[in-house]
Amino acid sequence: ADMGVHLADVHIACMGIEKLIPRRNDLGVFLRLLARSATGQAITNYTSHFRGPEKGKQIHLILVDNGRTEQLGREKFRNSLKCIRCGACMNTCPIYRRSGGFSYQSTVPGPIGSILSPGLDLKKYSSLPFASTLCGSCTDVCPVKINIHEQLYEWRQEITKANPNHAESLSMKLASGIFKSPLAYRISGILMRKLIKNLPDSLIYNPWNVWGKGRKLPETPQESFRNWYLNHRKNEQ
Ligand code: SF4
Repeated sequence: ADMGVHLADVHIACMGIEKLIPRRNDLGVFLRLLARSATGQAITNYTSHFRGPEKGKQIHLILVDNGRTEQLGREKFRNSLKCIRCGACMNTCPIYRRSGGFSYQSTVPGPIGSILSPGLDLKKYSSLPFASTLCGSCTDVCPVKINIHEQLYEWRQEITKANPNHAESLSMKLASGIFKSPLAYRISGILMRKLIKNLPDSLIYNPWNVWGKGRKLPETPQESFRNWYLNHRKNEQ
């Protein structure tokens, strides 16, 4: 990287406006913070400092906004602009540790990407804040104290308000009714065990079943856990 910069007659660098720091004295704090949170090192292997172009050469620095001032205007989410891209939130996240960084097609991966990306394109990234357990591990490790899991939860509310999913809220209401009544829970369990087992795959994995596009239902058990438990107790007595 350094050789490329020194050999080139024109050096053009781009940076997000949120990466500006108030004073040169603050740089040491950020460099140590970044290395420790990213890889656990005390300091980075190398850091390049550019003060100005050599004689006859040029340096151009482009400060990119790309939605950052808009994010600054969103009171609940402006804290996310403090991110120094150390990746600690992604490394601790139970979801991203399994799925890998680039599994959700957002440029900035990990939990921080899940709160920055909806600000850029709400429709395209609307599913990201929902792909989280909200365990808060990301918030715990963040060196600049971004309340990531709270912002994920805030985004869920914004997204639901902007695009209410009537089918989903209806099915949640139905599920809630079933979970509240032990009798309804038992009857629906029996129905599903009998029904699902006998349905042909072509009917379950139809074009409308978005969930089933990349997943398969597990084998349905012969009996409910409750029945299994009662039978075992009876046999033991
Ligand atoms: S949100 Fe915090 S933990 Fe995640 S990359 Fe940014 S600074 Fe690091």
